[in-house]
Amino acid sequence: MKQYLLPESGNFYKANLHRHTVISDGSLTPEEVKEAYLEKGFSIVAYTDHEMIVDHSDLEDENFLPITSYELSLNATGDLRFGNNVPTYHINFYAKDKHNAVLPCFNEDYIWAPNSKAYITDEMRKTKYDFKYSVECINDIIKKVTAAGFLACYNHPVWSMHSYPDYAALEGLWGVEWYNSASVCGGYPDTIQPVDDLLKMGKRVCPIAADDAHSLRAAFGGWVMVKADKLEYSTIMDALERGDLYSSIGPQINELYIEDGIVHIETSEAREIMLTTERRVAMVERGDNITSANFDINKYLNESREKEDIDESRSYFRITVTDHEGYVAHTRAYFVDEIK
Ligand SMILES: [Zn+2]
Ligand SMILES: [Zn+2]
Repeated sequence: MKQYLLPESGNFYKANLHRHTVISDGSLTPEEVKEAYLEKGFSIVAYTDHEMIVDHSDLEDENFLPITSYELSLNATGDLRFGNNVPTYHINFYAKDKHNAVLPCFNEDYIWAPNSKAYITDEMRKTKYDFKYSVECINDIIKKVTAAGFLACYNHPVWSMHSYPDYAALEGLWGVEWYNSASVCGGYPDTIQPVDDLLKMGKRVCPIAADDAHSLRAAFGGWVMVKADKLEYSTIMDALERGDLYSSIGPQINELYIEDGIVHIETSEAREIMLTTERRVAMVERGDNITSANFDINKYLNESREKEDIDESRSYFRITVTDHEGYVAHTRAYFVDEIK
C-alpha cells in the first residue's frame, strides 16, 4: 500500500516564510509585498518584521494568505540591534492563530526599528523580558513563544556567525533555514549541514528556504511549497507543522510516496535525485533529464528497526533534487518510525 510522504490530495501553495516591510526595516508596505509576491506566483507570505508582530489578516483573500509572525533577534552586544561583528540568534515565530499578535517575550527598550514603535500595544507592555545572549536564554524564549502558539524557525546560521556549538543545543525548533536569499546576496550562503546536524540528534526540524527580502533585492529566491486542502490559515499552519512541505530554490517535487519499501519521487527536470540518511547509506539517480526516481530502502528500514547499534528513533532519510543549473530542492526528513 502506498504511504504518501507528501499528501496525495490537496494543492501546493508557494510560500515565502521570511519577509520584512516598512513596519521594521523593509522598504515596501505590507500591501506592496502582497502584490509583488502574488505576481510571482506566491500564495503565502509570512510577515516577519524585526521584533514586531502585526495581524495582517486584512490582506487575506482567496488568493493570498498572510502569516502573522515576527523575527526575534538576540545579540551578544546586549541589545537587539545587529550589524555588529558579534554572533546573533534570529528566530522567526509563526502564529498558529492569525489573530495571536502578541509578543510573549517583549521589552520595549529593545524595539530598535523606528517605525515599529507605533505598533506596540498595551498588551505587549505588560511584559519586560530580560534578554541575555546565551543558548539558555534563546531556549527559554523559544519555549515560551512556542507555548504561546507559535512555530519557531532558526534563521541564517552563517550570517549569524554561528557554528555547531551555537545551534546544537537549541530545543523546540520547527524549522531551520538552509537557504536565505538575502544572506546569499550579501555573501553569507548557508548550507543544509545544520539541518542534518540537528536531525542526527533526533531534533525533527524542517529544512526551510526563504528570501528574507527587505526590498525587491533578494526577493523570490527561496521558498517552501506547502501541500494542503485549501488556502486557509489554520489548514496551512497545520500542514506546515506536520511537515507537508518541501523547500526549493528551483526544482519542483510533484509526488512522493513509499510503497513496499520503495520510495518513489516525481520531479521537474533534474540532473540528480539523491536519497541520503543519517548514516553511511545513500542512493542516487543521475541523468540528462530525469523526472523520477525509485529508491529501494527495505534493507535500510530493516537495519534501522532490528540492529541493536542503530537507534531507530534517530534514523531518517531525505531527498535532494538538483537541476541542470545547480538549483536544489529538499524534502523534509522522514524518520523510520513514521514509516508503516
Ligand atoms: Zn535575520
Ligand atoms: Zn529577516
